[in-house]
Amino acid sequence: MDKVLILNTGGTIGMALTANGYTPIKGYFRTELERIEELEHENMPKWDMIEMDPILDSSNITVNDWNKIGEVIRDNYDDYCGFVIVHGTDTMAYTASALSFMLRNLDKPVVLTGSQIPLCELRSDGRDNLITSLVIAKDAVVKEVCLYFGGKLMRGNRATKFSADKLIAFKSCNYPYLADAGITIKYNPNLLRQPTGGKFELQKLDDVPIGVLKIFPGIQFGLFESMITENLKGIVFETFGSGNVPGNGGELIPIIKSSFDHGAVIVVCSQCPQGTVSLGTYETSSGLKKAGAVAGHDLTTEAAVAKLYYLFSCGYSAEEVKKYMEIDLVGELTE
Ligand code: ASP
Repeated sequence: MDKVLILNTGGTIGMALTANGYTPIKGYFRTELERIEELEHENMPKWDMIEMDPILDSSNITVNDWNKIGEVIRDNYDDYCGFVIVHGTDTMAYTASALSFMLRNLDKPVVLTGSQIPLCELRSDGRDNLITSLVIAKDAVVKEVCLYFGGKLMRGNRATKFSADKLIAFKSCNYPYLADAGITIKYNPNLLRQPTGGKFELQKLDDVPIGVLKIFPGIQFGLFESMITENLKGIVFETFGSGNVPGNGGELIPIIKSSFDHGAVIVVCSQCPQGTVSLGTYETSSGLKKAGAVAGHDLTTEAAVAKLYYLFSCGYSAEEVKKYMEIDLVGELTE
């Protein structure tokens, strides 16, 4: 039972160079793994590997793929001590966030990892990311959905892709790292989630219409009105600083009110990767609060999107979704 299941969903780590740039190719990742001798080292856990069909550049990942990943974990849950999900970096933080909600009562490690440079290239960061993720999955100290990259282990729903080209590509800006992998892997036990003791189960997600609107100087809210009021059930506003929007929210207030009448929920997050939203601190955010928008506190946009998918998929009403968006469910926000 100290065996780890690797699920390859795609991503740079197992890509090959084609005429159209790097692309995932069926079976290629397994060939690359065979070239990594350390994977058979006596201190490594035993592992099996399965590949998703099709394997994807993570830009193409959908809610349906999150469900497929969840099903693989559910169907193999009793046979492995932990899981390593190999994934592209572009949307890894979204998938990690989604899985943190979907895998209810998890009491095993689920570690997402990948690389910035493919394994087939000379300076690939994929080897360490993969080897260390396997060790973390075997150690089973961290029993939650987490993301390992560039020497840092972080809570999955706190992670964000921070760099398009550095090997330390992810950050956890509002929650400390769960472990640092230097000469040894140093876990921070006080920061880890404790298993609930409940029965493990998978909550699958529906393709709920969700939107993200990044606020910018000069934004003409009227242009987005029908989208906000009629088309979407959950909308994340990426606002300035601690939740501020232009025009003291004036033009937005009737739009927000009308969106609630249509059963939508508006969550206010920040464009700043670090810090928290605090509605009402400035006049420029007080209107949002009065109109009934919900503060996303220190949620990442990735976690806010995933949480909206999750709550609506659970069948909650818009009022209930509003309530739960402000409550910490799986370590995703600081209340
Ligand atoms: N486009 C790639 C992906 O997300 C980038 C990467 O894996 O680093 O699948």
